[in-house]
Amino acid sequence: MSDQRGPLESIVIVGGGSAGWMTAAALADSLGSSCTITLIESEAIGTVGVGEATIPPIRNFNQRLGIDEATFVKETAGSYKLGIQFVDWSRLGHSYFHPFGQFGAEFDTVPFYHYWMRESLAGRIEGPIDEFSMCWAMAKAGKFAHPQPDRRKIQSTFDYAYHFDAGLYAAFLRKFAEVRGVKRIEGRVVDVARSGEDGFIESVTLDSDEKVAGEFFVDCSGFRGLLIEGALEAGYENWQHWLPCDRAVAVPCAKQHDITPYTRSTAKAAGWQWRIPLQHRTGNGYVHCSEYVGEDEATEILMSSLDGEPVGDPRMLRFVTGRRRKFWDKNCVAIGLSAGFMEPLESTSLHLIQYGILRLLALMPDREMSPLLAREYNSQTTAEYERIRDFLILHYKATTRDDAELWRYCSAMEIPETLQYKIDHFRNHGMIVSDERELFANPSWIAVYLGQDIVPERAPAMAQMRGQVPVADRMRAIAQAMEDAVAEMSAHGDFLARHCRSPIAA
Ligand code: FAD
Repeated sequence: MSDQRGPLESIVIVGGGSAGWMTAAALADSLGSSCTITLIESEAIGTVGVGEATIPPIRNFNQRLGIDEATFVKETAGSYKLGIQFVDWSRLGHSYFHPFGQFGAEFDTVPFYHYWMRESLAGRIEGPIDEFSMCWAMAKAGKFAHPQPDRRKIQSTFDYAYHFDAGLYAAFLRKFAEVRGVKRIEGRVVDVARSGEDGFIESVTLDSDEKVAGEFFVDCSGFRGLLIEGALEAGYENWQHWLPCDRAVAVPCAKQHDITPYTRSTAKAAGWQWRIPLQHRTGNGYVHCSEYVGEDEATEILMSSLDGEPVGDPRMLRFVTGRRRKFWDKNCVAIGLSAGFMEPLESTSLHLIQYGILRLLALMPDREMSPLLAREYNSQTTAEYERIRDFLILHYKATTRDDAELWRYCSAMEIPETLQYKIDHFRNHGMIVSDERELFANPSWIAVYLGQDIVPERAPAMAQMRGQVPVADRMRAIAQAMEDAVAEMSAHGDFLARHCRSPIAA
């Protein structure tokens, strides 16, 4: 690579799945015409075509690109998501909700959940903490409304994300990117040429013999990691001993009358099944571990537990949980499945794409391609993957199920020290320890700890020391405010029909 310090003039993206088109859209929006952006994709190879549930930060991504929400939901046949219902995870017959938003509302310097623990451990309130989640109150009533900005209102205590059709999402972003000058080339990359001097990627060759040269390459080629692994051999850190699922069979089915505003994840003997409601269909998949169930049996289990008639044939996807050892190597950064995959339990993959893109924009190299930039990108991304990894492992580790081999393995497995440390704090005195860059904030950890039967031995000390606070009155008022707020909201289906009905929903 030349030692010039001028800005990049050409970036090549290999891959046109969600990762490729999210990257193309964001780069085109930010870089304007200062740099040519070319995206290569192969229709014959196709995309994974799943990835339909998101978490709230996706709204920031859309806002940054100036995407109007109603248009977005309409064009992707999307629906709103208030959180995830976890069924049979801690034990059979039990469920809990991981909401997007806080529990209760703050009425003192001591957090609400500290008081809730104090009251619950003393037997003065019954029922799960879910009863104090605005998201769950709305979700179980099948309602939706936007949160309100006035922080004195209970309607300000929740957040939301989307479910959408992955194919329509890529098409939506493609339109966005092409209008802003991204050049798309259809073709299969068959060769990658590297400089003999420093090993930097110089060009890729397509099956048509066309050569596409670039100064910087973004590998969005999916699990195969065509550039980052195929050419640069960045290496892969395998996390299967912590996140043992390695297959998913997916099939959509006919939509249900009531479109629930949440994802459902139901634990099964050898994995778990997702249910994602869209306007025109419901997405389903059984994520499983091949050591404990065969592909045919997994497919049968999925097909026999759908809400409606299947639409199309089931599709098997194979993966290895983990991450690329180097996300950015030389003049290539891997974004999307080429960077790693931690399984879809908490809908974090599209989020990791979003943050990969934002980090790339923040650390945009010039032609000098300083290795310091790659080092910083890799260090930040590694930390982000590891924080998410720990949160996912918690779901598997904290189970009391002993009815199947997978769950016996998970409850007995060694976990990363970083996670054990967090669990010890919560179990001992009900405190959440997290670093401020944590994607999943305190309410998420509380939901999963309590939902999966990790109960603190005692409530945090401060809650015990503030006997003068009228906690019972405040809690009653919060519960009443939630009930009143939900009563005024529209059914989720009506909300969609009124504001963002997809033309294909009928
Ligand atoms: P892909 O979709 O595989 O795209 C790869 C692209 O590279 C394609 O365009 C392909 O044609 C192209 N390509 C590959 N090789 C070549 C070549 N030689 N020449 C030219 N082009 C090539 N994420 C979430 O956030 N939420 C979810 O609910 C969720 N659920 C998931 C469920 C499952 C079972 C799986 C496996 C993943 C899920 N994900 C989810 C992850 C999400 O699907 C991906 O992160 C997202 O779709 C991005 O994929 P991608 O673009 O990296 O790869």
